[in-house]
Amino acid sequence: MEETLKILVVDADEIDRMAVRSALTKAGVQMELSEVSDGNHAFSALSTTAYDCVFLNYHLLNQDALTLIQQLRSSEIKVPLIVLTDQRDEEIAVQLLKAGATDYLSKSRISPENLTQVLRSAIRVYRAEMQAALATQQLRETHEQLIRKNQELERQQQCIQMQNFNLLEASKLKSDFLATMSHELRTPMNAIIGFSQILLRPKFTQLTHQQADMIERILNNGKHLLMLVNEVLDFSKLEAGRLDLKAEIFDLSKVINLAVGELRSLADAKNLSLFVQTDLQNTLVFNDPIRIKQILMNLLSNAIKFTESGEIWVEVKELAENRVVIQVGDTGIGIAPINFKRIFEAFRQVDQTITRKYPGTGLGLAIIDSLVRMMGGKIFLESKLGIGSMFKIELPRQITLSNVATNAPASQLDADGVFCSAKNHHSSFQASKASIGYPKFKL
Ligand code: ADP
Repeated sequence: MEETLKILVVDADEIDRMAVRSALTKAGVQMELSEVSDGNHAFSALSTTAYDCVFLNYHLLNQDALTLIQQLRSSEIKVPLIVLTDQRDEEIAVQLLKAGATDYLSKSRISPENLTQVLRSAIRVYRAEMQAALATQQLRETHEQLIRKNQELERQQQCIQMQNFNLLEASKLKSDFLATMSHELRTPMNAIIGFSQILLRPKFTQLTHQQADMIERILNNGKHLLMLVNEVLDFSKLEAGRLDLKAEIFDLSKVINLAVGELRSLADAKNLSLFVQTDLQNTLVFNDPIRIKQILMNLLSNAIKFTESGEIWVEVKELAENRVVIQVGDTGIGIAPINFKRIFEAFRQVDQTITRKYPGTGLGLAIIDSLVRMMGGKIFLESKLGIGSMFKIELPRQITLSNVATNAPASQLDADGVFCSAKNHHSSFQASKASIGYPKFKL
């Protein structure tokens, strides 16, 4: 052994101590050897000094080795202990091993080789035991840490669940508030619109031109405000899954002409041409006419709002598999591909600043997206900045009302129904991939 070992020999017999000392010296063990003759001195030496090994005679003065070993163990003093026994003490040695001795050697076998061998193996065993005890201790600590972390995680999870619950509650309260407020706002708005219309009737000719002009502004602003309120109401209903489609058979081209007719004056005011082309062999569809008109009015008013010059057009065509497509195009400012998906999210506008040029709630396309999903249709967008935009809505000629179940806003539905593909320098956005039910009867 290279290192210098601190060795203690505990033996009342000077001759025995000498035998150990000379055997170790002969074996060339580098050591600092201490010798004591009884258990009390051994105990105090071991309490104050860390020894690498102790050679202990079983028979001590006024005491036996077993008592000393127990004393050491109960005082948590750990050291490799080799008990030196007489021939007849071998049975006792087994007991000593059980009590905590590391090894034993019969005095008759003391020789440089035997002593160094038992010394080395005792130190090796002791060190291995210490390492194992350390590893066990570390394992226990890690285990305890894990338990504590687990408890902490559980607490955090409960906290998150509680926050989630509170958020859902808050979101529901917000939706209820929006629904109630917009519903309440509609009553006075309808009164403002109704009374302005009455005032503008021809029998009130006593109104000056200026007064009539002012009432017309009140009427137009009232209508606009009502439209905004209706958007908020629709959105909160869609969010709460409380918006139902009221499907019936109707003439699609008539509804389209009605919507275009209502917005023509806005296009005229901006000097924009507005064309409608209906190319349907069968103009009848089974759908909710009010919601179809709402979709069209929304797309058309956007087209007019975002176009400074040029034209707006509406085109309706038959598609395979009993489907129709309604296209609304413009030569307006266009939309960058990065915004194709975003603009279908609620409250999203390309220009999110308060100083933005174009007014609006940012709810129109989110509502359209939800409605089209409910109808089992798809929306495609083709657009190029500075050139214009085209929104295509593909719908089954006859909607299946089971689609009503999916009437949550787009932001809550799966986002993976999106693809972008280059096409004549335009890109496409597919906002929905809801499956289309086959018509149950022919229209
Ligand atoms: P709003 O028109 O009230 O802002 P929408 O949901 O209808 O809300 O539209 C969201 C955004 O999409 C608009 O703010 C605009 O930035 C963009 N957008 C919609 N339609 C067009 C269009 N025809 N041309 C250019 N941009 C459009």
